[in-house]
Amino acid sequence: MFLELKDKNLFKKAGEYALEYAETALDRNVFPLEEAIKNLNSFNEEMPVASSDAVSILDQLHKYGSPGTVSQIGGRYFGFVDGGVIPASLAVKWLTDFWDQNTPMYISSPVVSKIESVVEKWLKQIFSLPEKTVAGFVSGSSMAILCGLAAARFRILEKQGWDVNKKGLAGAPPFRIVLGRQAHGTVIKGLALLGIGSEQLEFADVDDQGRIIPETLPILDERTILILQAGQVSTGAFDPFNKIMPIAEAAGSWVHVDGAFGLWAAGSSRFNELTNYMSKADSWSADGHKTLNTPYDSGIILCTDRDALSSALHATGSYIIYGEQRDGMLFTPEMSRRARAVEMWAALKFLGTSGLAELVEGLHERAVQFAEEFKLQGFEVLNDVVFNQVLVTCKDDDTTKMVLELVQQSGECWCGNAKWNGQYVIRVSVCSWATTEVDVSRSVMAFVDALRKVENE
Ligand SMILES: *Cc1c(COP(=O)(O)O)cnc(C)c1O
Repeated sequence: MFLELKDKNLFKKAGEYALEYAETALDRNVFPLEEAIKNLNSFNEEMPVASSDAVSILDQLHKYGSPGTVSQIGGRYFGFVDGGVIPASLAVKWLTDFWDQNTPMYISSPVVSKIESVVEKWLKQIFSLPEKTVAGFVSGSSMAILCGLAAARFRILEKQGWDVNKKGLAGAPPFRIVLGRQAHGTVIKGLALLGIGSEQLEFADVDDQGRIIPETLPILDERTILILQAGQVSTGAFDPFNKIMPIAEAAGSWVHVDGAFGLWAAGSSRFNELTNYMSKADSWSADGHKTLNTPYDSGIILCTDRDALSSALHATGSYIIYGEQRDGMLFTPEMSRRARAVEMWAALKFLGTSGLAELVEGLHERAVQFAEEFKLQGFEVLNDVVFNQVLVTCKDDDTTKMVLELVQQSGECWCGNAKWNGQYVIRVSVCSWATTEVDVSRSVMAFVDALRKVENE
């Protein structure tokens, strides 16, 4: 049963299968075919008693698993806000998989501690954040939002003489949460995990793009956590930071920016109008695995209040050895964690600031192209395409629904749906660096074919 990590045959096979996958997945049906889904039943096995041969495990996974994937690495997947993967970043992941580092502390992985510090510095530069900002490398924005809000809760209560870590929430001085009606679901979830129920929230109204209308904000004060958005998950819209941030600053509120995919707009001066004043907040959350196209399981929490973040998140134990060097677990809810920052380091180093600008501008240009071609073909585009999201509909909900089903079945591209202002809409998210102009036109043609079929029925 004993296997060597130096087993060249095993890892060569894994590499071969991976590259074979890349070759076919780039240009195949985007969603798995019916037969491939049926074949997933081959995994319905009882837990084996005997050991299995490692190569045969790979064989099974490649034979039945690979065709059952969504072709996310290709250029025609527009579901959710899911990024593809930059090869330089993926290659680094392969090497760090062999490292098998656990990264809570410097003492558990000096190299990852070093690279986290470097990425932290680069991120501050990209997003124009204050020098004192610290970064925690977490699994995604859900976690990053939770961390930012935990830091905010800690600080706002601490300022009122209440240590929430010691005393808990029962009997705590009051604090307030203000957010827009189109805030992301993971914000509501994060708040609930922190003991703040949905009925305790104060909502500001939003316009037809999902942007907070500043005039409808409740009066802010120093006991308020204000949650803003850089990139609404359906429309891609940004809250008007230029109008809201000065109000929040004057009131002394804590501002958290959910910028899961939109924070990266700061990487291009072309989006200055959207991102101006964004850097005046107290904490920000963003993903690596969306706009930046790192492998999955990559999010960041950025916070100007190091003590609040680490007080909210840090753990103690007689065996935990914090040192002089960077100990990443001060800024993450997890203790054990893989070396995810290294993939972000590779993606950023590969792109450079100019490549990052090109990446975000490219996603925007492809989204604008989608909108233009949709309109030319008689579809309706509901949102202002300010970043990478496009909301598209047909003449009524039923037609839109049928068209989406046919598009998804066609295998030509894949998009999801949502409800927007009571209407059934198709959400097209251009989030992969691999998407080309040809991919966009080809995908629009799949919509045109689908609409024709629906109309001829
Ligand atoms: C995707 C997304 C999230 C959640 O991020 P995960 O990385 O999936 O946890 C939160 N907010 C917005 C605006 C998002 O687009």
